[in-house]
Amino acid sequence: MAEETLIPSGGALAALPTLGREKEHTMEALETQAATPASTAKAMERETNPWEAQAARFDEAARRLQLDPGVWKVLRYPTREIIVHIPVQMDDGRIEVFTGYRVQHSNSRGPCKGGIRYAPDVSLDEVRALASWMTWKCAVVNIPFGGAKGGVICDPKTMSQGELERMTRRYTAELIEFIGPEKDVPAPDMNTNEQTMAWIMDTYSMHMRQTVNAVVTGKPVNLGGSRGRREATGRGVSVVTDQALKHLNMEPAETTAIVQGFGNVGSNSAKLLWEKGYKVIGIGEFDGALYNPRGIDISELLEWKARHGSIHGFAGAEAFDQDELLTTRCDVLIPAATENVITSRNAGALQCRILCEGANGPTTVNADRILAEKGIFVIPDILANAGGVTTSYFEWVQDRMGYFWTEDEVNQRLDRIMIDSFQDVLQYAIAHNVNNRIAAYMLAIDRVAFTTRQRGMYA
Ligand code: NAD
Repeated sequence: MAEETLIPSGGALAALPTLGREKEHTMEALETQAATPASTAKAMERETNPWEAQAARFDEAARRLQLDPGVWKVLRYPTREIIVHIPVQMDDGRIEVFTGYRVQHSNSRGPCKGGIRYAPDVSLDEVRALASWMTWKCAVVNIPFGGAKGGVICDPKTMSQGELERMTRRYTAELIEFIGPEKDVPAPDMNTNEQTMAWIMDTYSMHMRQTVNAVVTGKPVNLGGSRGRREATGRGVSVVTDQALKHLNMEPAETTAIVQGFGNVGSNSAKLLWEKGYKVIGIGEFDGALYNPRGIDISELLEWKARHGSIHGFAGAEAFDQDELLTTRCDVLIPAATENVITSRNAGALQCRILCEGANGPTTVNADRILAEKGIFVIPDILANAGGVTTSYFEWVQDRMGYFWTEDEVNQRLDRIMIDSFQDVLQYAIAHNVNNRIAAYMLAIDRVAFTTRQRGMYA
C-alpha cells in the first residue's frame, strides 16, 4: 500500500487546488483500483493525465534523492503560466477566438526552451507537463536551458495557411514580453513546423525593430535554422537505440522495429534505423498501420507519403490494425506519435525487448510498473527524444555566433551528447538500483536542484 506522505506544503501553493498540490503522488497512487465502468473510466482519466504522470515520476525521483523540501516545492510547479485568447479573422470574414498557453517551468539553468503545439485537445495540464518534461530533458542532456511549452487549442487541419499565419502572429504578439533569446525560446512540436517558426521569428523581429533569429529554433536553414535540426529527434532516437542494443548484446541486422507515428520523429527514426540495417516491420498512423515481417523499404514509403499524403495503399506492406501494431512482436518498439498510448490496458500485451520513447509521455505510470515486471528495457522520453532540443541548442548557439556549422559537425556533436547522456542515465540506474526512467529524472532533478541552490532565492 502506498504511503500517504504529504509533500512539503504551505504558503500560497496550498491554495491552488487545480494542480493537485495537497498530496505527494506516489507511483501506486495512480493505480486503477476501480470495479465499475464509471470508476474505471475515471481511473483511466487520472492515469492518462500528463500532469499527474509527470508529478508521480518527479515525486518518486525527488524522494529517492532525499531532495530538500524547499527545493522540492520550487521544482514541482511551473514558474509562470500564461493564458492568451487570440482573436483571428478567418478567411470568410468571421472573427474566431483561440485559446493559447505558454508555460515556463524553470529558467534555473538558462533560458526556457520548448515547443509549441497546435491541436484541438491541447490543455493547460498537458502544457504544464510538457514544460516540466522540457526542464528535465534539457538537464538530462546537460544543455544550458530550462523548460517551457506552448499550445493553442485549434484544429490546424481545417485551417488555411492564412488563418494559421494570422493566429501564429497574434499568439506571438500576445507573448512578446515573455519570449526572447535570453528568456524563452520556442520551437516546433505537433502540427507546427519551420514555417510556423519563420512567422514567429518575423513577428518578434518586427516588434524589436531588428532581425532576431535566435528567438526560435527549428527555423528554415536560410533564416538561421541549423542543418540537421529536422532529422535531429529521429537521429537521437536511433543513436540511443544503438546504445541499448550494445548494452543488451544485440545486432542491428538481427533487430526488428515497429514505429508508431510517421511524422517528423517517427519517419526520421524509421529512416535512420532502416539505413543502419534494422528491419522496420511496422509503421502505425492514427488511421491505420502497415506491416511487413520481411521489412518495409522506408525510403520508398517516404516517397509514397510525399506523393499521396498518407502511408495507406503502399504496396510494400500490408494494411494492419493500428492498435494491434503496438502489441505485435518486435525487438524495438518506438512510440513516436502522441501521449498515453501505452497504459495499464495494453502494457501487459507488449512483446518488445526495448521500448524507445520518441514521443513525449507515451507511457503511463501504471504501464511503467507492468513493463518493469516484463523486463522491457525502457529508454525514457526525456532521454530518447532529447536529440531535438539538443540540436535546437546548437541552432541557438549558431544564431548568436552568426556562424553556421556543417551537417556533419552538427551530427557528430549530437551523437556525442546522446551517447554520453545514455551512459549517464544507465550508470545512474545501476548505481541507484532504479529503472531507467527514474534514473533519468533523478539525474535531471539533481542537476536543476544544484543550480537552484547555487543561485539562491531572489528576495
Ligand atoms: P508530427 O505532427 O510531425 O507527427 C506525429 C505523427 O503521429 C503524425 O504522422 C500523426 O498522423 C501521427 N499520429 C497522431 N496520433 C496518432 C495515434 N494516436 N496513433 C498513431 N499515429 C498518430 O509530430 P512530431 O514532431 O513527430 O512529434 C511526435 C511526438 O514526438 C510528440 O509527442 C512530440 O511532442 C514529440 N517530440 C517531437 C520533437 C520534434 O523535434 N519534432 C522532439 C521531441 C519530442
